[in-house]
Amino acid sequence: MASIFSRIIAGEIPCYRVAEDENNFAFLDINPMAPGHTLVVPKHETDYIFDLSDEQYLSLQLFAKRVAKALGEAVPCKRVASAVLGMEVPHAHIHLVPINSEADIDFHKKHSLEPARMAEIAKAIAEKYENS
Ligand code: AMP
Repeated sequence: MASIFSRIIAGEIPCYRVAEDENNFAFLDINPMAPGHTLVVPKHETDYIFDLSDEQYLSLQLFAKRVAKALGEAVPCKRVASAVLGMEVPHAHIHLVPINSEADIDFHKKHSLEPARMAEIAKAIAEKYENS
């Protein structure tokens, strides 16, 4: 069965889309640690990120870098943190989280934002990405 992220990429499940390229897709985490928390995933479904081929892994990381730059411009923050867990969804993904301190990274603290706010943030990041 396709992973929930493959179904998002296929358009079967809605998401707040941020960006995509030939091999990768980025969308907002539905329960963000901070506004702008973005997930970057390879379109080719692979559970464990370190099982990606070198080519797929490099493509994902370069895409994540461009998305992270756009995120940092769209959402004021000191840094955009990058983390890989994969304990919940068996489809490789990188978390990009805007942070101002170490304490902002806490995978037990998830929030829920209004749909309009999520859409606004996704649009702001998408615009920065497109112009990069
Ligand atoms: P992990 O697999 O531990 O790296 O965490 C998976 C992440 O995916 C969590 O932060 C969830 O909030 C997020 N997530 C799960 N389902 C969705 C969804 N349908 N749309 C956006 N984010 C999701």
